[in-house]
Amino acid sequence: MRHRAGNRCEYCLLKQEHVPFATFHIEHIIARKHGGGDDPSNLALACDRCNAHKGPNLVGIDPETREIVPLFNPRDHIWEEHFHLSEATIIGLTAIGCTTIRVLNMNEERRVRLRTMLKRYGQL
Ligand SMILES: [Zn+2]
Repeated sequence: MRHRAGNRCEYCLLKQEHVPFATFHIEHIIARKHGGGDDPSNLALACDRCNAHKGPNLVGIDPETREIVPLFNPRDHIWEEHFHLSEATIIGLTAIGCTTIRVLNMNEERRVRLRTMLKRYGQL
């Protein structure tokens, strides 16, 4: 699982080695409470921040259209089609991207600051 993900969070792409004090989680994309199983097709590697914010959520409200939109699914979707890393900020390219950024709080100030630092040292 960690190997498949390249030891990166499959949502924000942070590498485990960048936050050695916070072990990444194997996350259920569809939470058990919604009938999701332990099959590898339903599991993703997530940093503690993305995992904490995602919780059992499957959808969010699109910040622009106010419509209910599914969250990014690392097994079904391609990261680059939904997100773009601009400097240290993750930009949503689609409704799925924008909604996932919001629900997972991917551009929270401290996370952007960490990405800025990693970028400065060529680690991102
Ligand atoms: Zn993450």
